[in-house]
Amino acid sequence: MKVIGLLGGMSWESSAEYYRIINQRVRDRLGGLHSAECLMWSFDFARIEALQHAGDWDQATRELIAAAQRLERGGADFLLICTNTMHRMADDVQAAVALPLLHIADPTAERIKAAGFGKVGLLGTAFTMEQLFYRGRLEAKHGLEVLIPGEEDRALVHRVIYEELVQGKVVAESRDAYRAVIARLVARGAEAVILGCTEIMLLVGAGDSEVPLFDTTAIHAEAAVERALES
Ligand code: GLU
Repeated sequence: MKVIGLLGGMSWESSAEYYRIINQRVRDRLGGLHSAECLMWSFDFARIEALQHAGDWDQATRELIAAAQRLERGGADFLLICTNTMHRMADDVQAAVALPLLHIADPTAERIKAAGFGKVGLLGTAFTMEQLFYRGRLEAKHGLEVLIPGEEDRALVHRVIYEELVQGKVVAESRDAYRAVIARLVARGAEAVILGCTEIMLLVGAGDSEVPLFDTTAIHAEAAVERALES
C-alpha cells in the first residue's frame, strides 16, 4: 500500500471527512483490520484564511510548499491538497516536490464524464468559482462546460463556507439557500453540480438537488485509495 500524503486543516472539518472516507474505503477494499497508511500536515486555518482574503497567494504558496516538503521527507508516496481552493497553487506545489500530486479536479471530471454529463454547475469559494485555476482545468483539460452561480448567489455560497461550514456550523436556512442556488443552476441547464468545496458535503446531499451532485471530498478521497492500492 502506498502512503497517502494529505495537506489538510483547510479546514479540519473536511480533513476529518477525508480521514474517515479513506480509512473506510481501505476497509471496504481489503477487509478485516486494514486501514490506510497516511500522513497529514494540518494547517492552522486562521493563518491560511487570512492570507487568502488578503490576496497574499505568494505566502500561501510558500506555506503549502513547505508542508508538502515535510510530507515528502516523512515518506509519503503521493500528495493530496484537501481543499479545492488551494489548488490555486497546485502547479507550484507539484514543481517543488518529486511526489505526484493527485489534483482534485481530475477524478471529479472523470466521474462526471463517465456519468455522461457535459454541462455542470460549480459551487465553491469565490476563489474557486471566479478564478480560472479550477474552472479552466475542467474546461480545457476535460472538455466540460462549467456554469457558476450569479453574483449574489456566489456571495452567499462563499459566506456560508467561511462563516459556518469551516467552523462546523450546519444551519438549516443555509441548506435551503444552497438548494435554491442549485435549482437556479439547474434551470440554466446544469446537468449535474460539483460540490467544489470540501465542506459543502456537510450541508447538502443527494436529496437537496434534482440533478446528481458530485462531492469532491468523497471523490478525491476515494481516488487516493485507488492510487494507494495500485500495484
Ligand atoms: N475547503 C474549502 C475548499 O475546498 C474551502 C477552504 C479553503 O479555502 O481552503 O475550497
